[in-house]
Amino acid sequence: MADLDSKQRQIIEATEKLEADIIDFASRLVAEPSTLGEEASALAVMEAELEQLGFQTENVAIDPQTLGDHPGFAPVPWEYEDRYNVVGYRPADREGGRSLVLNGHLDVVDPGCLDFWENDPFSPVIKEEWLYGRGAGDMKSGIAAMIYAVRAVELAGFGIQAPVTVQGVIEEECSGNGALACLHAGYDADAALIPEPFGPTILTHQVGVLWFKVTVRGASRHVLSASSGVNAIETCFPIIAALRSLEAELNDGPRHEAYRQFEHPLNLNIGIFNGGSWPSSVPDEAAFQARLSYFPGVRFNDIRQKIIQAVQKTSENNPWLSQNPPIIEFYGFRSEGHAADRNLPAFETLNDCHRMLTGLDAETYISTCTTDLRAFQLFGQRQSTCYGPVAENIHGANERVHIPSVMQVAKTYALFLSRWCGLVE
Ligand SMILES: [Zn+2]
Repeated sequence: MADLDSKQRQIIEATEKLEADIIDFASRLVAEPSTLGEEASALAVMEAELEQLGFQTENVAIDPQTLGDHPGFAPVPWEYEDRYNVVGYRPADREGGRSLVLNGHLDVVDPGCLDFWENDPFSPVIKEEWLYGRGAGDMKSGIAAMIYAVRAVELAGFGIQAPVTVQGVIEEECSGNGALACLHAGYDADAALIPEPFGPTILTHQVGVLWFKVTVRGASRHVLSASSGVNAIETCFPIIAALRSLEAELNDGPRHEAYRQFEHPLNLNIGIFNGGSWPSSVPDEAAFQARLSYFPGVRFNDIRQKIIQAVQKTSENNPWLSQNPPIIEFYGFRSEGHAADRNLPAFETLNDCHRMLTGLDAETYISTCTTDLRAFQLFGQRQSTCYGPVAENIHGANERVHIPSVMQVAKTYALFLSRWCGLVE
């Protein structure tokens, strides 16, 4: 840390003093099981913390009436009543600096089968240098780090020369409508940082991602005459096979150059499968829900069309499906990919801060998934990236985050605030 001047040293020392507060706040967020539709208690914890730390808070609703025409809005089958994002705003202490958004999502994915967890997913536990729990990595500890980075600058005795907005959003894991609503409400800035748990890297590329659901009808029978019925579950199998072929075609087809070195950058995932009601009845309905990704530069509508064609082609060759066509619905993610120039000023500043702490340049991260970064990249100013802690098993059992890496994020963000926004003494 030889490159640090005395002010920066004060800021780093102040950040280190906040470690217990950061991990305590992250743990309190993890303890709130903020899966889809159940975000209220985590939002309340975040709002109270922001108020206690002196931010002006606003609850930003997701209103399909006002957002519905936005090209980034993802239609969903669920409701937005009483669900919102919480934004903390800190006005500039003096003019002249560059503004900053710090964004993180409070929603978490379902913990899945509890048998695989060593501890309750929503009872955070620290073992050695790791904090365990659903959302510990993705991404409640990042949220704690980013908020307390602002506090660290204040604790070191400095003001900030530009407005800072911190956003705790919902629906990062399903639609991206939360971050979009904040952007639409005017919360953009000269740069945006998101501490997603991909490690201390500078994310320059994301793939596009879409979700869809395929519903198939069968013909129900008692199993004593099963051969005269049509099994809706098994009828899904050739459709899934056709979608796997589409996935292979997309991976083998023209590639965005940033993804050339990847073995299999685009992934189809059959994430939910439902069907049938009784072991001795031929099921008359089955449905699966899936996620498919595509390269930056490829349009959502083009992939949507390819999926429809793949399902239609399978149906044409199947006597039952040709008479009983599957229903395809697109809901949730319909985000397109994007690519950013690694040489953007905000990325250079972030890299400088990383190097001050580690002596090394931050690696570039090319992502095969999507994050709320898309809102800032596609519809806001483009100087935005993810730089976050090191986590393991995100979306899996025994999710955990490495506490020293959470502290590194807090320090890097605190230095970024000093360099990008500017200090007031
Ligand atoms: Zn995440």
